[in-house]
Amino acid sequence: MAGYDKRFSGRKFDEMREIEAKVGVIKRADGSALFRMGDTIAIAAVYGPRELHPRFLQNPETGILRCNYDMTSFSVPERKRPGPNRRGVEISLVTEKALLPVLELKQFPNAVVDVFVEIVQANAGTRCAGISAAALALAHAGIPMKDLVSAVSVGKVSGKVLIDLDKEEEDVDDATDIPIAMTGRKQEITLLQLDGNLAKKDLMEAIKLAKQGCEKINKIQQKALKDAYKSVKNE
Ligand code: UDP
Repeated sequence: MAGYDKRFSGRKFDEMREIEAKVGVIKRADGSALFRMGDTIAIAAVYGPRELHPRFLQNPETGILRCNYDMTSFSVPERKRPGPNRRGVEISLVTEKALLPVLELKQFPNAVVDVFVEIVQANAGTRCAGISAAALALAHAGIPMKDLVSAVSVGKVSGKVLIDLDKEEEDVDDATDIPIAMTGRKQEITLLQLDGNLAKKDLMEAIKLAKQGCEKINKIQQKALKDAYKSVKNE
C-alpha cells in the first residue's frame, strides 16, 4: 500500500474510536465494568478478595491478582474455538502485569482477587479495552488502588503513526501495533508490547499519542465511576 493519507474509517491519525464506559454491569460480581472502543467491547468482573485455594498457593505476605482473559466464540467474524488458548494465556498475563503496580494487595494476605475479562465483540485492541475495563471493575469492587490504569494501542500503518488501530488497519501488511497501558496521574507505563521494527523517533511519537489517548480514557473512566455513585445517591 502506498502512502496512507486518510484512515479507512475516516478518523484523524490522533483520533480514537468512540468510547463508552459503565460500571456495575454484573450484579453478582463484587465489581464490574463494560468498556467499549468502537466495535470492540470488553466486560470485566471482579470477585474477591477471598481466601485462596488450594492453600499452598497462598502468600502470607500479600494478596494476589489473578486475571483471566477470554474471547467469546461469536466475538469475531470467523468463529473462535471456545476455551483457553496460548493467546489468551499471554493476554491474561500482560493484563495482570499492567494492573499490579496500582493495586494495594498487602492488606489481604492469603487472599486472591480474581478478574475475568470477557471480549464479547472484537475489532482489534481487545487487550487494551480489557485492561481499561478491568481497572474500572477493580475500582468499582473497592479494591484499594493508588491510581487507575488506562490502555490504548498505537502504531504505524503505511508510514503514519496513529492511535487506536482497528482490525482493518492491523491487517495492513506493514502495520506495527503497540498496546500501551499507563497509570492516570503520573502516566507511568505499566505495559508496552512491540513486535517488529520501529525507529526510535516513531516510537516516541507513538508513546506521546498513547499518553494523550490514555488521559482521555482516564477521564471517561473517572466519569463512569462517579456516575455509578450518583445513581446510588439518588436511589
Ligand atoms: N482476532 C480474531 N480471532 C482470534 C484472535 C484475534 O479475529 O482468534 C482478531 C480480533 O479482532 C482481535 C484482533 O484479531 O482484536 C487482534 O488480535 P491481537 O492478538 O493483536 O490482540 P488485540 O489487538 O485484540 O489486543
